[in-house]
Amino acid sequence: MERKNDKLNRRNFLKGAGFAGLGSVIPVSGCTESKQQVSAAKFAQIPRRRLGKTGEKISCLGLGTVFDMTNKHHILDSSVDYGMYYWDTATNYGDTKSQLGIGKYLAKNPDLRKKLFLISKPIDLETPLPVIADFDKDLAESMQRLNTNYFDAYCAVHGLSEPAQLTDELKRWAEKCKKKGLFKYIGYSAHENMAEGLLAAAKCGWIDIALVAYNFQLMQDDDYQRAIDAAHKAGVGLIAIKTQRKTTLDPMPIESEEDKKLTDHFLAGGFTTGQAKLKVVLEDERFSAAAVGIDDIGILTQNVAAAIDNTKLSKDDREALAEYARATCNRYCSGCGHICSSAVPDMPHVCSIMRCMMYYKSYGHHERARQHFARIPEDAKKNLLKVDYTLAEARCPQHLPIAKIVAEAVRKLV
Ligand code: SF4
Repeated sequence: MERKNDKLNRRNFLKGAGFAGLGSVIPVSGCTESKQQVSAAKFAQIPRRRLGKTGEKISCLGLGTVFDMTNKHHILDSSVDYGMYYWDTATNYGDTKSQLGIGKYLAKNPDLRKKLFLISKPIDLETPLPVIADFDKDLAESMQRLNTNYFDAYCAVHGLSEPAQLTDELKRWAEKCKKKGLFKYIGYSAHENMAEGLLAAAKCGWIDIALVAYNFQLMQDDDYQRAIDAAHKAGVGLIAIKTQRKTTLDPMPIESEEDKKLTDHFLAGGFTTGQAKLKVVLEDERFSAAAVGIDDIGILTQNVAAAIDNTKLSKDDREALAEYARATCNRYCSGCGHICSSAVPDMPHVCSIMRCMMYYKSYGHHERARQHFARIPEDAKKNLLKVDYTLAEARCPQHLPIAKIVAEAVRKLV
């Protein structure tokens, strides 16, 4: 009976708060000054969690602004309404227009800055090791675009792929920047070799935050779980990205039997699959927040509803996600780049290419995919179709058809 009531409550929640209720009070445009003052009373607020050893409390749902935000101020309005004060941007998001859009918004709403927890990142790391002069330049230019004179956190290494990228030089530079008040916390982001990065961050002691890919598929990996434990115990503030586990192989939406089964399971319980995928991450309390790319009020509403709802996923719900992860793992690159790189040491870009194709196919972000692909050195690009990927495919734990995906990337992204 309890389970039945749970389902009914969830259904009401999704129907009422997730769509009709929240949708009916979300504005689609307009100024925010007066709304900011009344928002806490009028709108349910996103819960906040402690961010590792920093002691800061941030909204457990972060606004990922990977788009041109100059024409998306209504998204920022709604984010403020729901107390989603953690905003995540980077220089290359929307080709600097993410930062420019937020900067214009902050110019109109100067009192908002002190309420925000604003994280910025430079463009994805293009060199084997970080170049400090690039960070100095990026910090100055990003702050100008964003109309701010400090960041709450700066993820200097955007796209950490090797623990060696957390250099002593970077540590000394971060200490100096903190003293100057340029940012409060230093961190990195990673879509690749996340376990190795987190173990290094736990050990080195000077990394404050880590944005790492984490979702229902990656949570099945025991080595990754141990690394998350170590980082959490060391006080590294953990933020989950890529929570939806979009795939390398398929355009969305996918409508396989497995997808239909998962959709039916969660709709019967009152959630969309997207909400369930977000909730399973948010229920992992080692993570302070999940940063989710939101460029649409409907998506914002669904994510907010999932974050505010305190119904726990059941054992059956978790098993449905785990079963789906097992059945569809060969669509997904799990970012274990050290494995395919060890098989094709002359072509250490396989993992990056898989990510490019995820952006291209699942997200439909063609320009972003091309920009990432363009960063592969020209010498390596010339050899992409000459390399024998047989051993890499044999070692790939997800059994991805690497040669086929690389060939498609060359056709679509060059
Ligand atoms: S292609 Fe396979 S081995 Fe390489 S990073 Fe992706 S999942 Fe790991």
